Amino acid sequence: MDIRIGNGYDVHALKEGLPMWLGGIKIDSPKGFVAHSDGDVAIHALCDALLGALALGDIGHLFPDNAPEWKGIDSKILLGKVVGLIHDKGYEVGNADITIALQKPKLAPHILKMRETLAPILGISLDRVSVKATTTEKLGFVGREEGCEVWASAIVISR
Ligand code: MG
Repeated sequence: MDIRIGNGYDVHALKEGLPMWLGGIKIDSPKGFVAHSDGDVAIHALCDALLGALALGDIGHLFPDNAPEWKGIDSKILLGKVVGLIHDKGYEVGNADITIALQKPKLAPHILKMRETLAPILGISLDRVSVKATTTEKLGFVGREEGCEVWASAIVISR
C-alpha cells in the first residue's frame, strides 16, 4: 500500500456584491470572491492538496484562468475532475482537512453542510472530511475583510 500526503493553499479577494461560494455551498454575505471560476477558495486549496499528493501540478495549471470553459464554473466540478485524476492514477482519497481564515461572516453554522457537500465528491465518509474556520483577530488582509485564506491537507491511498 502506498500512502501520499499533499497540501494546498489559496487566497481570493473579497468584493461587495459578489456571491460567496465556500466549501461547495453558497453563503449569505454582502461580499463574495473575485475569481475566474465561482471563487470557491476552499475547494481550490483542497484540489491543490489532492494534486500535490500525487505530484500532478496545481489547479492553475490544470484549469487555466484564461480558458473560457472554466469561466464562472462551479468549483465542485473542478474537484470532481481532480478526484477522477486521483482514481485514474490508482489511488483513492483517505481523508481531507481544510482550515479557512475569514473574518466575516461566521462560518460555524455552515461547516457541517460544507462537509456533507464535499464528502460525496471525494468519495469518502463524512468523518473523513474536516472543515475548520478561524478569524485572524482582525489582523492582516483577512482581518480587514479584504480576502480569505485557506489551507488544506489530504491523504491519498493506493487501491
Ligand atoms: Mg483559486
